[in-house]
Amino acid sequence: MTPAHAELPQIRDTLLKGCSFLLTSHARPDGDSLGSQLALAEALRQLGKQVRIINADPAPDVYAFLPDLSTIEIAASVEDSFDAVVILECSDLSRAGVGGLEGRPLINIDHHPGNAMYGDINWHDVSACACAEMVFELVTALGAHITPAIATDVYVAILTDTGSFRHANITARTFEICRQIAETGIDPAAVAAHVFNNGSLGRLRLTGILLDRMRLEHHRRIAVLAVNDAMLTEAGCDPDDLEGIVNLPLAAQRVRAVVFFKETDKGLRVSLRSKEGVDVRQVAVSFGGGGHLNAAGFTVEHLAPDTRGQILARVATAITGSDE
Ligand code: AMP
Ligand code: MN
Repeated sequence: MTPAHAELPQIRDTLLKGCSFLLTSHARPDGDSLGSQLALAEALRQLGKQVRIINADPAPDVYAFLPDLSTIEIAASVEDSFDAVVILECSDLSRAGVGGLEGRPLINIDHHPGNAMYGDINWHDVSACACAEMVFELVTALGAHITPAIATDVYVAILTDTGSFRHANITARTFEICRQIAETGIDPAAVAAHVFNNGSLGRLRLTGILLDRMRLEHHRRIAVLAVNDAMLTEAGCDPDDLEGIVNLPLAAQRVRAVVFFKETDKGLRVSLRSKEGVDVRQVAVSFGGGGHLNAAGFTVEHLAPDTRGQILARVATAITGSDE
């Protein structure tokens, strides 16, 4: 089940040797970044290690049920020293959004294409459906016990990062890990209900407003959603409530890609989603962002009048390219 990774034993030995570790992941955390960090932290604590998790941003409310979520510290930078820093889910160091990481002993564990290999040890596996798949293997290699808490963390990560077992990169390894997760006695349906049946009525209302105002471009193959603060206020929502809405237009057969424009105080945040071979990652990279083939994102700080048009044109090119 486990592909050979030269870095895995190296990371295991480094973690077994050291005493104190810092774990971090990307800004605006998602299910995979949270689950990966919490699972690895619990495994290391089982082995008697001192572990701190520091993130740039707090977790969205739906993840409040995750065991030990409250142990995650929110800070803009790190000062104390550690035997090693494990950075999960970050294709480059700046994605963490936490300062003071440079120059430390860094272990980079990631599954995003285009990882900058910024660590002293770089374990990069684009075949993993979630970073937590890699973390599960690491936890096992460390000899830690797969507790219900670790199982819950990893399951949330896999469930959310695969779009509820719909995206690419789901393999026999994914189901083997889920089998071991189920054996710990956790209730996968209850976990899914926590994540997906726990939203506010405002979010439901906002979904209606956004879909009602959805535009279709490029022969109705690109669905365009847009939100601003006024719409959030109107629906009684905060930006966390937008999570996942970007995927909805893909349910229409004709739609090949979704562009979601979110006006924020840091600029225009753009989320891209696509189907099949439509490579939206390339579009995101061309605007300074990144992600995966079918899910990517970026932020435009200084908007020009034709920025939105340019973004749509590049997505249209990605669709045309995938048809060839
Ligand atoms: P989002 O639309 O924010 O859910 O992001 C979709 C995917 O793109 C996730 O895998 C993110 O990690 C990735 N992503 C989003 N923004 C960026 C960025 N600025 N740089 C690199 N990857 C990104
Ligand atoms: Mn991920």
